[in-house]
Parts: sequence; structure tokens; C-alpha cells
Amino acid sequence: MKKCVSILGATGSIGQSTADVIDAMPERFEVCTVTAHTDARGLADVVMRLKARRAVIADASQEEALAAALKGYDVMIESGAEALEYAVQSDTDLTVAAISGIAGLRPLMHAIKNSKAVAIANKEPLVAAGDLVKSLALRHDTQILPIDSEHNAVFQVFNPVQRCGIRRIILTASGGPFRTWNEKQIAKATPAQAVEHPNWDMGAKISVDSASMMNKALEVIEAHVLFDMPPAQIDVLIHPQSVVHSMVEYVDGSVLAQMGASDMRTPIAYALGWPERIETPGQRLDLTALSRLEFEEPDLTRFPALRLAYECLGKGPMACLTLNAANEVAVAAFLQEKIAFPEILSTIEFALRQEPDINLDTIDSVEQADEAVRSVALTYIEEHCAGAMKKLKA
Ligand code: NDP
Repeated sequence: MKKCVSILGATGSIGQSTADVIDAMPERFEVCTVTAHTDARGLADVVMRLKARRAVIADASQEEALAAALKGYDVMIESGAEALEYAVQSDTDLTVAAISGIAGLRPLMHAIKNSKAVAIANKEPLVAAGDLVKSLALRHDTQILPIDSEHNAVFQVFNPVQRCGIRRIILTASGGPFRTWNEKQIAKATPAQAVEHPNWDMGAKISVDSASMMNKALEVIEAHVLFDMPPAQIDVLIHPQSVVHSMVEYVDGSVLAQMGASDMRTPIAYALGWPERIETPGQRLDLTALSRLEFEEPDLTRFPALRLAYECLGKGPMACLTLNAANEVAVAAFLQEKIAFPEILSTIEFALRQEPDINLDTIDSVEQADEAVRSVALTYIEEHCAGAMKKLKA
């Protein structure tokens, strides 16, 4: 029996890596639904490559372009926000959630109801609405499989039977493109420099998050949600080689690590094949080519985002949601050259001082809170951030 896979965010970096794994194993997988935001050409290419049954484009103005690109193909085409939310239908065995940002929340929640398993790369819904996502998965008996390489690594070495014997989770971080930069250099960083990751080829938003180490901050919260571990038992170490993707330390002193090449096709293949292991078209780790593995403590002065993650976990779910929403707004503004790199953090800190007072018990309330934080962050950017950018551009 082939596994039927749906891909939310099929045109992105994770979506394309997922397509690579599926394409290499046509005897194991077939594809139900693939989605995109605006990239009609990219979505048509995925449909043709994977012979997907349904294609959903969120931007309704792109439906015509999608239909034209798929003329003659036996595929159902839908468009619009509602079509995206309900994209995953009950013919799906496993959904890969790879939309970028909180925009993935509604499609993810529907996917949890309609698939047997959901492989999640899209960390933002876990950060902003972790409790909702987890309780829905529990109610529908849907297996959650992490794709994010660190959490996938932890998943592989975290023995739930020995939970009491787990001392801590150690998430590794490459340190991003500014790992060796001083504060002055970081203050002048451009979007082009921020998206130039030394080890991983990723979408723009997560690349900027890696440069600010906000990605690791989001991952600390993600680990707390996925593995039910208290923040004090989640540590981060800088590991520039990105070979050890994360570790679990047990009370007896054993440290179990998952290692591999810096290739997202490995964690994706793990999730697609689970509970079995499958071949991947990804790179292999050449152990003889490794001269050394380095680990160091993160520098919270140059990269304060990590400190914010622990503060937010201490405060509760609304602080985590605020961190995520303000970061999304600030990163988008940075990529559009509206704010300077350090202003990503000042925008978030400003928003965290004005957390909305909303009970996060439904998707609607999560979206309402998300909107409120976005509005605060946008106002801050408009009122406080024009100067620094002008100075940098001069
Ligand atoms: P990309 O920006 O490369 O791709 C994002 C995908 O989501 C695209 O298919 C895009 O469609 C779609 N999309 C974006 N916004 C919307 C929206 N508003 N509505 C509907 N669809 C939307 O991102 P990545 O693949 O890099 O990352 C995806 C997720 O995975 C993120 O949450 C990221 O943090 C996480 N992740 C990524 C890793 C990586 O290596 N890239 C590693 C670990 C986690 P379109 O192309 O039409 O714009």
C-alpha cells in the first residue's frame, strides 16, 4: 500500500526537499494535495512532478495562471483562504506542514483532523498555539512527527519509556552567518547577508531567524511543546559544523546524539517513512572528512533572542505568541529594508511589553491575539524605526 502524502507549502524549501524524497520512491508514496501561496508556476511544476491529485493556491488571483499551467492534467484545482484551510482531505495518510509562519495554523489544524500523521516543519503554529495543536492531535489520535532537524534529532534519541531518566535536551545551533561578527557589524547587516546561511539552504524568513538566533529561540519553545520538557531542561549549544543535529543527555551520563549531513531530506525522509527507515536522495555524512566537532555556549549579548525565549516560556503562552508574531512582522520589515537588523529585536521587546489580554483557547482567539500583536509591532516600526535605516542607507 502506498502512503498518500499532502504537502502544505509545496513550493518552498521544505516542500521541494519533500518532493525530492517522494520523487525518489514512487513505489512508496503517492501525493494527494499540494498547496502554495502565490507561486502558480512552482505549484504546477510540483503537481506535474509528483502527479498530485489536488492543487490549492491561497491567492485566488493566481488560480487562472495555475489552471493554464496545468491544462490537460488530471488534477483538481482550488483557490482562496478557505480552500487552503481545508486543503488536506481524508485520503491523506501523512501531511507535511511546510507553510512559513502562523499562516500555516488553520491548514495544520485541519490536517491534524484529516491525516493519520502530521510531519511538522512549520514551527510558528507550535510556538504560538502549541497547546491547541497538541490537544487536537491527542483527540484525533494523530501522530505528530517533527521535521525541524533539531527536533527530529531529539525525536530519534528521546526514549519516552526512560523519560524520568532524561536530564536535558541539548539543541544545537550553527550560530548562523553572524556567529563571528561583532555587535557593530551585526548592527549594519543587510538582508542579503542575513539570508546567506553557512550550512543550510532555507527560505528567507527562517534564514533571517537563524542570523538573529531567533530561530533557536523559537526552537526552544518548540522543544518544550513537542517533548513536554520544562525550559530548565532544554539547553542550546553552538555547533558550527551542523553535524550533530541535537542530543539528549540521560541521568547516567549517556549523551545520545543524532548526526547527519546538513540536508533537510534526511529528517523529511525519517518523517515520511516513520516508523520505518527509508533510503533518501540526500547527502551522506562523510565521517572521515570531519576534522573536529566544536561546541560552545551561545553569546546572549550579541544574540539576545535566546534569552527572550526562556523569559517567554516563564511568562506563558501569550508571551510565546507575542514573540512569534512580532518577530514575523519585524523580519518582513527587515527583508523589505524598512528596519535595521537590531530593530527586529527592539520591535519584539516593545511588543512583549504590551501583550494582549486574550484567552488562547480557540484558533479564533489565537488569530485575534496574533493580529493585535502585529498591529502593535507595525505601529512601533512606523513610529520608531525610520531613522536607523535611513542612516544605514546613507
Ligand atoms: P519557504 O519560504 O521556502 O516556503 C514557504 C512555503 O509556504 C511556500 O510554499 C509558500 O508559497 C507557502 N506560504 C507562505 N506564506 C503563505 C501563506 N500566507 N499562505 C499559504 N501559503 C504560504 O519556507 P521554508 O520551506 O524555508 O520553511 C517552511 C517552514 O518550515 C517554516 O516554518 C520554517 O521555519 C520551517 N523550517 C524550515 C527549514 C528549512 O530548511 N527551510 C528547516 C526547519 C524548519 P509560495 O511559494 O507561493 O510563496
